[in-house]
Amino acid sequence: MTDFYKRDDCRLCRSKSLETVLDIATTPVGDDFVTGDRLGKGQPTFPLELCVCTNCGLLQLPGVINPELIYSDYLYETSISLGLEEHFLKYARKMIEQVKPDDNALVVDIGSNVGCMLQGVKALGYPVLGIEPASALAKKATDAGVETWPLFFNRETAVKVREERGPAGIVTANNVFANIDDLTDMMEGIVELLDDNGVFVFETGYMVDTVQNTVIDNVYHEHLCYFSILPLIKFFDSHGLEFIDVERVPTKGGSIRGVVQRKSGPRAVSESVTGLATLERELGFEGMAPFRNLVGRVETMKRELLELIDSLRAEGKSVAAYGASVGVTTMLYYLELEGRIDCLYDDNPVKFDTFSPGMHIPVYNSDEIYKRKPDYILNIAWRYMNPIKARHEKYLAEGGRFITMLPAVGIIEK
Ligand SMILES: [Zn+2]
Repeated sequence: MTDFYKRDDCRLCRSKSLETVLDIATTPVGDDFVTGDRLGKGQPTFPLELCVCTNCGLLQLPGVINPELIYSDYLYETSISLGLEEHFLKYARKMIEQVKPDDNALVVDIGSNVGCMLQGVKALGYPVLGIEPASALAKKATDAGVETWPLFFNRETAVKVREERGPAGIVTANNVFANIDDLTDMMEGIVELLDDNGVFVFETGYMVDTVQNTVIDNVYHEHLCYFSILPLIKFFDSHGLEFIDVERVPTKGGSIRGVVQRKSGPRAVSESVTGLATLERELGFEGMAPFRNLVGRVETMKRELLELIDSLRAEGKSVAAYGASVGVTTMLYYLELEGRIDCLYDDNPVKFDTFSPGMHIPVYNSDEIYKRKPDYILNIAWRYMNPIKARHEKYLAEGGRFITMLPAVGIIEK
């Protein structure tokens, strides 16, 4: 595969009726923060364009970066992200209680990272296997006792797993379903791997939350799809599968946790499925209005924010920003912040003393706020405003100011 290609059909229904919702910007790989020795080298940029399929309603990015470019030296470990580890231990317990798999049923996790969730399942006495394309993470998981194959999950991988380990009672995919370009190949793999009574359990960002809560920073090249129930019901049906349960969970700005079985499977379909489908229809997600509202809100936010930052800079104030995540790269480009902010502060040691992808804005440990004393800090990590404010009470007490961008543009003085 080349470094980038743009597909012309929908990932779920293959219709060619893709309509552009928001052409965000052309950006580098969002998590490719660089060290000083790479500063002289350019980073390739790729279109970041949100489209909706007017046939099935799936919100998606038609542009696909070669996964090898994104994941080969992937830095994101589950345990780095606060709260996620505990979340997955609970998730494992709850899933086993709900699904009640046969004794000794194999549990396979797709995109298993360092194996946090499978550790929980293993502790409950079930055999487990992780599938994780980032080889360093796969090795770390295997070394910690969760056998993990360093592969992308597809039909070919599924055949290999079934041959060597037998069918799976549960296949899980947490926060990876949205990152797969060839969903047909992935679903065929899942159908291949599941035993007759098996279930597929997934957690993924929920498009309704993304759109309604303006979680525009969740849009980046890795997130190819923004799922809702209505398009998925049709997609699963076309693979001989059906939803049996779906639940909204607060992870990552709003997600859904779905449970799916073969249509001939033994479990009853919960009312939660029709309930959420009805909600999506009532909110207008079969049409374009919610997407047009989203675009109106983010464009207003951008205009107000740039007016504020430009007027502060014209007064001679220094402006920095908080956050150095993949979503921050999207916002730096969409908001055209190059030349408008001096540096980024973050709390993840992996990012300290690196430079943002493409724009090469320096990233510092947030402790350095007290040395550099910026007059204003734009909080791009807006969903974490409260913990960031609590951590930096001293900055506010010393006269520093945070600029908020969402849910509304404003200034926090204390
Ligand atoms: Zn579609």
